[in-house]
Amino acid sequence: MEQLDIDWKHLPFGYYPTDYNVRCTFKDGKWGEIEVSQSDKIEMHMAATTLHYGQEIFEGLKAFRGKDGKIRIFRLDDNAERMRSSAEGILMEPIPVDLFREMVIKVVKLNERFIPPYGSGASLYIRPLEIGISPSIGVRAATEYLFIIMVTPVGPYFKTGFGCTDICIMRQYDRVAPRGTGRFKIGGNYAASLVAGDHAHEKGYSAVLYLDPKEKKYLDECGPANFFAIIDGKYVTPKSDSILPSITNRSLMQLCEDMGITVEERHVTVDELEKATEAGACGTAAVISPVGTIHDEDTGHDYVIAPDRKPGPISTTLYERLSAIRLGEYPDEHGWNTIVE
Ligand SMILES: *Cc1c(COP(=O)(O)O)cnc(C)c1O
Repeated sequence: MEQLDIDWKHLPFGYYPTDYNVRCTFKDGKWGEIEVSQSDKIEMHMAATTLHYGQEIFEGLKAFRGKDGKIRIFRLDDNAERMRSSAEGILMEPIPVDLFREMVIKVVKLNERFIPPYGSGASLYIRPLEIGISPSIGVRAATEYLFIIMVTPVGPYFKTGFGCTDICIMRQYDRVAPRGTGRFKIGGNYAASLVAGDHAHEKGYSAVLYLDPKEKKYLDECGPANFFAIIDGKYVTPKSDSILPSITNRSLMQLCEDMGITVEERHVTVDELEKATEAGACGTAAVISPVGTIHDEDTGHDYVIAPDRKPGPISTTLYERLSAIRLGEYPDEHGWNTIVE
């Protein structure tokens, strides 16, 4: 295999072109053949439902080169299942799990030279997306869909080491509606969060910690990541219908159980943050992004979680264990990895 001259350690979380993407079209009531493409463009009808009415869903998962040289994809089937749920959430055609699996493995193999080497901290980000492509001016679901999987190498999330950032609460923004589409991974939710995210960044915060959109009393999630806190030695994470079910969060909860740490998935009020000894945002990109301070923009109150600005012991252990499982350095007791042969 040709050696690539890429500075893996400093790659941003951006689009770096690779050799191939894979595609499959749903038409006349069935999924067609898997196509391999070298083009990073799509041609479609200008009245496609994705362009007008937001029929778009996506996923995000990663492949890693392990210490043993093997390629591992983390929780492939769980991402496939979640994408089916997202499809049903906005009346799109659910992708069969076997098709999702086959296409992910195919695109990873085809782009093997872009899988970063072990030890670089970088990985191959896999981005499946589905869009409604048949034309419609009336508001209705498409009858034809395009499923594409692209991959791109991404550098380590923590360029200067595993460290804390600050986040904020801003009650003037909601990411989603109480019984809306928050639990689905759809592009529209992201469009709806851009203004709030931009506002938070301008003020120096890495993300917005959203409150539940109905009562504004409970914690919801953290922009594109779930939220957890360590309270009285327990792993506490918000439960709500408007939260996207993070596979990383679910993995961390399982690891806590393995380690004898009590897990509570329940409503969490804002003032409980006073008792938090650790907190973090969790998702595929960072695993855990530890939180230093949570600033409440409306009351002016600072919940100082990590006065020394260092990630706490539980967050650090969880981060290290999950990272090690993904790289094949720690036993994969729950069968989370798919090894690409
Ligand atoms: C993707 C996503 C997450 C994180 O999910 P993971 O499966 O852990 O990557 C959290 N919140 C939102 C809104 C998301 O879109």
